[in-house]
Amino acid sequence: MKKMVLLICVMSGLLTSGSLSAQNVKFKKYFEDYTLRIDYHRVGNRQQDTVKLVAIERIPLWAGSLTRLIDPFDNGEYRVVVKDAASGRDLYSRGYNTLFREYRDTPQGRDSVACYEEVLRLPWPKCKVDICFQKRDSNQRYYTQYCYRFDPDSALAELAKVSKVKVVVPPVCLQNKGNSHKKMDVVIVPEGYGPADTAKMMRDMRSFCDYLLGQEPFASRRGDFNVWGVPLTGEASGITNPTKGIKVNSLVGSSYNTFGSDRYLMTSHLFQLHNAIGSTPCDHIIIMANSTTYGGGAIYNFYAMSSLNEMAYMVLPHELGHSIGGLADEYVDEDLSYGDMHALTFEPTEPNITTLVDFDSKWAAMLPKGTPIPTPADNSVSRRENGPMGVYEGAGYHSKGIYRPVMHCMMRDYAPFCPVCAKRLNDIFDLYTK
Ligand SMILES: [Zn+2]
Repeated sequence: MKKMVLLICVMSGLLTSGSLSAQNVKFKKYFEDYTLRIDYHRVGNRQQDTVKLVAIERIPLWAGSLTRLIDPFDNGEYRVVVKDAASGRDLYSRGYNTLFREYRDTPQGRDSVACYEEVLRLPWPKCKVDICFQKRDSNQRYYTQYCYRFDPDSALAELAKVSKVKVVVPPVCLQNKGNSHKKMDVVIVPEGYGPADTAKMMRDMRSFCDYLLGQEPFASRRGDFNVWGVPLTGEASGITNPTKGIKVNSLVGSSYNTFGSDRYLMTSHLFQLHNAIGSTPCDHIIIMANSTTYGGGAIYNFYAMSSLNEMAYMVLPHELGHSIGGLADEYVDEDLSYGDMHALTFEPTEPNITTLVDFDSKWAAMLPKGTPIPTPADNSVSRRENGPMGVYEGAGYHSKGIYRPVMHCMMRDYAPFCPVCAKRLNDIFDLYTK
């Protein structure tokens, strides 16, 4: 795939910024119905965090909404904001998390500098814009790390317009409910399939499509989804697993044992991943790993991955809770290497956990009158149901100081999504479909 090397990167001052105004931005005035793909490196460790742009590409379709361009959810460690260069008006924004953010919190990330690939997909601007990479400071407020001045009439942009996106193979349509601007387009990327595995790959894609749409609130919104599969194989079958001595040259380079956790199955090869997707309409990505070893992982507005283990029909919805909903884990695991990400002195940005620092911004309005805060645990509630709403201690990996809305939830132990998690998912479906 041809890409243009970026030559211009304008560094801005460190401007603190809060929530963006969600006023009506007229898509056709500011954007073309194309996608601007930006490939960049995020380089650093716990002290440093810098963005280095690598390439841009023009993809002949914008899959997102034409009417809801500003992200209304104050969620994610990072945010991209596209601003009209002439007026400074906010035109588009999206919060997200990254694998680098988790690396940063590992023991190695304390001192060792690492370089991670990241990719943004934005609507293609018609006018000069500043594409601002933002990150939260120690007070959880966004500040601008860098702004890239994008000029659609520059030689670089003109070159991107005439360079064709290499379509390796047409995507497989697993479900098409219509206009991508009004649907959530999910792309399933098969991983760990060899040239002889194509029939199995097609069967597995259909299973994954069923897992995606099988649980509430996804099932009730089935008509709001387009689901695509990328029918590509790697050199051999299987997934790299360092603890078992298995190394496979797979399509997007995924591996178990990410950051030393056996079941944490991820890839850091984002450029390869987005090359595989090519010009397939894409709002969200699922990587389907051809392995029966339990595992998966997901990051908000990054991607979700699950293996084909017998638990996949539950693991995938849980991971989609992270990648689409930006939901936190509601379980306790003090040993997780990245377990210190939720500082107890701040209200976390994820909607389904609270430190009670600002509980009114969470599910306080959804609680029945008279609910004690915190709420005593009720161990008689079956793991197949949520139980009554409350403020139960133990969530976000911590046994103390972080609270969750119910006893059991998909984000804790594969129970149905709780009302708080289901509401956020529905609100996000609306962002892509209304
Ligand atoms: Zn929940």
